[in-house]
Amino acid sequence: MRKKTKLIHGGISTDKETGAVSIPIYHSSTYKQEEPGEPKEYEYARTGNPTRFAVEELIKDLEEGERGFAFSSGMAAITSVVLLFQKGDHFLLSDDVYGGSFRVITKVLSRFGIEATFIDTSKVKNIEPAIKKNTKAIFIETPTNPLLKITNIKEAAAIAKRYNLLTIVDNTFSTPYWQNPIKLGADIVLHSATKYLGGHSDVVAGLAVVNNKKLGDDLHFVQNSTGAILSPHDSWLLMRGIKTLGIRMEEHEQNAREIVDFLVQHSEVKNVYYPGLSSHPNHSLAVNQARGFGGMISFEVETEEKARELVKKTKYFTLAESLGAVESLISIPALMTHASIPKERREQLGITDGLIRISVGLEDKDDLIDDLKEALSFQ
Ligand SMILES: *Cc1c(COP(=O)(O)O)cnc(C)c1O
Repeated sequence: MRKKTKLIHGGISTDKETGAVSIPIYHSSTYKQEEPGEPKEYEYARTGNPTRFAVEELIKDLEEGERGFAFSSGMAAITSVVLLFQKGDHFLLSDDVYGGSFRVITKVLSRFGIEATFIDTSKVKNIEPAIKKNTKAIFIETPTNPLLKITNIKEAAAIAKRYNLLTIVDNTFSTPYWQNPIKLGADIVLHSATKYLGGHSDVVAGLAVVNNKKLGDDLHFVQNSTGAILSPHDSWLLMRGIKTLGIRMEEHEQNAREIVDFLVQHSEVKNVYYPGLSSHPNHSLAVNQARGFGGMISFEVETEEKARELVKKTKYFTLAESLGAVESLISIPALMTHASIPKERREQLGITDGLIRISVGLEDKDDLIDDLKEALSFQ
């Protein structure tokens, strides 16, 4: 099955009881048992629910893994995966992982003895020297936010295998439509499905896919024990979103490429960060590892004042956090998503006060370009 077909016919595409083509929303919290202690397929809805199972089967097929899981948010998925580990275990993470991942590891899970080191995984040579005796996993995000750095998943996973570490990849920015980390050697793939997979800014959800039965059993044990499940209604909304992921990603990409072409030649724009640009430091890796570059672009204007003026003036780019939906969004990472990182550290990473991030939506590209053109003509 090719990608676009799998989005629609993957997983469980019709309800086996009724033949319904849209999977019904099973709200029941519990299920009748024929004999005490002998449930049929389902018993209690935290443990399993048919609507949630349908979206879990779908993401499993899309990521080509062994088992899928749907969580109440991306952070719930990430936290549950870290709960597979023990007190005293050490993680290596990409240094510009999503702020929430940084926060949960360093401020919450650290209290339970999880240790972490943050390194620039886009330079794979940094990985091996950072591995410690108690290192158990490497957690990669690629492309990263907001600078769209790319890590070589295949090489990172190969190093991890040699040291018996699990490779975990946050695939939120690329989605399974463009990139399949498990095929490149990853053990666990994570998604904030709130972003492209949902795609309509109307559901908060997280997904995880594992590549073997043991990890599947272990993650189900954690999920059933801690309870961070996706509701039946949100599972259905997410499935509806995923059906159009292919055409959406193609359009996001087309629009993004046109906008990048516009930005690179604009005199007020300093750097443009987009993996599809041949000047991007990891461009050839991006071409090899993924089938598309996505709809996220970051670019720099001279000063924070100019950045503030720009985001106030756009009409179609809404000033908001989040990404990956039909409507275009704009943000200033230094003042919003990355404000909690000290300024000095931000400057080191390249997240300057004039850096602007856009999530290119599905509006007409000419309207989007006109909007940016207007906003870039500073007072
Ligand atoms: C948004 C995001 C998350 C967190 O997901 P939520 O659904 O907001 O909990 C994790 N990773 C990345 C890359 C994200 O963009």
